[in-house]
Amino acid sequence: MNEQRGPDHDVVAVGAGFAGMYLIHRLRQLGRNVVVFEAGDDVGGTWYWNRYPGARCDIQSVDYSYSWDPELEEEWTWSERYATQPEILRYAQHVADKHDLRRDIRFGTSVEQATWDEDASLWRIRTDGGDEVTCRYYVMATGCLSMPKTLDIAGAESFDGPTYFTSRWPHEGVDFTGMKIGVIGTGSSGIQSIPIMAQQAEEMVVFQRTPNFSMPAHNGPVRPEKIETIAGRRAEYREEARWSRGGVPLPPPELSVFQATPEEREETFEAGWAQGELFSLFNAYNDLLINPAANEVVSEFIRNKIRSIVEDPVTAEALCPTNHPAATKRPCLDSGYFETFNLPHVSLVDLRADPISSITSAGIDTASRSFEFDAIVFATGFDAMTGALVAVDIAGRDGVTLKEKWEDGPKTYLGLTVEGFPNFFAITGPGSPSVLSNMMVSIEQHVELICDSIVDLEADGFEVMEPTRTAEDGWITHVNDCADITLYPRANSWYMGANVPGKPRVFLPYVGGVGPYRAACDEVRQRGYLGFERRGPNGSACNDGVIRRVQPDVAMVLEMMAEMGLPPMESLNPDEARAFVAASAEARPPGPEVGEIVDGTYPGADGSSLEYRLYRPDSPGPHPVVLYFHGGGWVLGSAESDDPLCRDLCVQSDALIVSCNYRHAPEARFPAAVDDGFAALQWVTENAEALGGRPGPVVLAGWSAGGNVAAVTCQTARDAGGPAIAGQVLITPVTDCDFTRPSYSENAQGYVLTRGLMDWFWDHYADAADRTDPRASPIRGDLADLPPALVVTCEFDPLRDEGSAYVDALRAAGVDAREAAFRGHVHTSAGGVGMFISSAPIRQEIASALRSFVSAQEVVAD
Ligand SMILES: Cc1cc2nc3c(=O)[nH]c(=O)nc-3n(C[C@H](O)[C@H](O)[C@H](O)COP(=O)(O)OP(=O)(O)OC[C@H]3O[C@@H](n4cnc5c(N)ncnc54)[C@H](O)[C@@H]3O)c2cc1C
Repeated sequence: MNEQRGPDHDVVAVGAGFAGMYLIHRLRQLGRNVVVFEAGDDVGGTWYWNRYPGARCDIQSVDYSYSWDPELEEEWTWSERYATQPEILRYAQHVADKHDLRRDIRFGTSVEQATWDEDASLWRIRTDGGDEVTCRYYVMATGCLSMPKTLDIAGAESFDGPTYFTSRWPHEGVDFTGMKIGVIGTGSSGIQSIPIMAQQAEEMVVFQRTPNFSMPAHNGPVRPEKIETIAGRRAEYREEARWSRGGVPLPPPELSVFQATPEEREETFEAGWAQGELFSLFNAYNDLLINPAANEVVSEFIRNKIRSIVEDPVTAEALCPTNHPAATKRPCLDSGYFETFNLPHVSLVDLRADPISSITSAGIDTASRSFEFDAIVFATGFDAMTGALVAVDIAGRDGVTLKEKWEDGPKTYLGLTVEGFPNFFAITGPGSPSVLSNMMVSIEQHVELICDSIVDLEADGFEVMEPTRTAEDGWITHVNDCADITLYPRANSWYMGANVPGKPRVFLPYVGGVGPYRAACDEVRQRGYLGFERRGPNGSACNDGVIRRVQPDVAMVLEMMAEMGLPPMESLNPDEARAFVAASAEARPPGPEVGEIVDGTYPGADGSSLEYRLYRPDSPGPHPVVLYFHGGGWVLGSAESDDPLCRDLCVQSDALIVSCNYRHAPEARFPAAVDDGFAALQWVTENAEALGGRPGPVVLAGWSAGGNVAAVTCQTARDAGGPAIAGQVLITPVTDCDFTRPSYSENAQGYVLTRGLMDWFWDHYADAADRTDPRASPIRGDLADLPPALVVTCEFDPLRDEGSAYVDALRAAGVDAREAAFRGHVHTSAGGVGMFISSAPIRQEIASALRSFVSAQEVVAD
């Protein structure tokens, strides 16, 4: 080795599973020199090691196979929908033969250490054989499920008979004929192997810690409808998979489970059960993985199936999962798993009721019983996603190891690269779709992305690339935001690291979907490697930034709106815009039930009759009163146009919400709206008791232009010497006519409320000369002695900075004012009840402020 000549290899990779194999092929095509180290004695990775009886894939083989070799696609025919391990291994070996891959693989060799040499800009790799090689790029293709979990059962070494691990099954197979066997573990491997081992064993006891949701695979030849879907359009089919959510082309579900009748649901779930595909049940409705009540419907469907299969009711109940929502742990496909418990020689021990105390020389002792066995099988799973990565002593810049960096949970940029670890890539690493996808699709994408990144790097005259801390933090935030709007984090699953004692509880895979993930990666590249610093002998370039900043559910709606190609609202006339807003309101989720809704009218400032809608909580009154003003730029909206939000606030704050309309522009221009605001305050205060509310100071609230009306009304009431106001909650309010604050230019387009629309609103509402009047721009008024305030601001809102400025100005005037700033949200987020799960904290914050103002009001009243 002579570093003057450069490193020994362009790329060193660890692992010769499907990831490492494709990497060799792709790098060779690019003329790069690559060597792969593999601990096993042949290719195949997962399919080399996991030789337990019944081992199969659970994504159909026509999907779970390489797409990069069209010839291979034609010449290889799968014998079953879900191929067995021997067939998948033969496939891997066939690919290795066909592309002569083995010549670049060093089998039977483990990588133990990898150290980044900053001076030489290369990695030094050390193997268990003591060899050291150097390379420019270091790739971990070590797999998500390749590191068996260390046994955490007392006495694990004491058993005198043979023990077998599903993940390290003997190549020559095992014959359990005539044996009494104990099996520990009922995850995917246990569920696949138990029915087959039961056919041989004389007696089998299954020890179950957590029951799992499983459904029959209905294996057999590939079904004609699947063949038809692919025939003559294989390349398009594969492309659809690349942009799908899970790596298998499927139409996205449009309906909530609650939009279907119980009969329709039953029919849909029965069809899914008969289909025998992981996605067929869980992709049936769009809320199964986000709404606990919706998930319970499918969970109970599966539990009823288990009850109908398993004859002994006690065993059936023990096999019914109840401690996690369905599919939040890896769901399983089985072939006769539950039926196995009807065999007279098979029994189940529910470890939640009767835990294992220790493994003994003769068998297994639980708290209440002693079992003797001839053999024990451990189907105890993996230290998933991070286990194999941190098992190698990888030291990056400044000698910090990956293990140290990930002490509190893995941190990656795109699940592929790590700050502090230059030219390092982890295929299907934590923070990428990986185990939540058809992994073949995810593996291919990562291999291609690594190769493209290397080519681009060198073409741009650099030799080292590394993500920035900002990019990495931003990605982790996004990964967590995505997980947090789902039910996944509610399960103690290996997705959360919960199966390994001491492992940090962090949701490991990226739940945002294969297609959206690919789009993010493509965008990173298109934007000149956003989030990467790239260095070389001739200098460096740091393109710092965060690739996904908008909350994922909000981003989805923004994308849908962009795809609809709607005309900008400001291109419509007010009547057209009002009709559009009313039509959109029809399509939104309704919000929660309240005790009572009453519609009525009150006298506006000019004596005209204006509508109000009252939302009464379902609890004994009288309730405190909140006067609410709707949004809509003084032009649009009505007393009921913020209906879902008002319902939500009524339920959460246990207050009477009176949503009062005000006259709209352009028919009634400034100051009609705020004059009506004050009239509403007077009327509501005077009539609080008649409305069923508590007399005394009311709380004012309003969204957007309604926030403006609320803020101005507080100033008017102070100047008029009453009515008294307990507090003001201003939700993304208009406070000023100044468009020069940065949020106006940063968020001018693309986040629902645009700069153009704000111009349109102001033009309809107020003449230029009136706009600086404090009754139009309350920030310009006297702010002393105003009621306490909560101002909600959203990051991607043109009005963000004037909201913040209003808080500053209120505080400067001695008012008790607080800003609640929401990351990743837009102007309309707060109102997205039932639409944006991520905006629930905004509504909680508002409701909590309403409650605190109200309780302060109670103290005053007392
Ligand atoms: C039983 C089972 C069934 C599965 N079924 C499916 C399925 O149906 N669909 C699906 O999408 N995914 C499935 N998976 C996930 C599966 O792991 C991936 O689909 C895929 O095979 C992973 O390929 P890989 O090359 O990334 O990693 P692996 O196949 O895990 O290969 C990694 C290799 O790296 C080697 N290695 C690790 N550390 C070192 C080291 N330090 N030195 C040298 N070598 C090392 C290992 O020996 C291993 O051979 C399944 C996994 C299991 C365990």
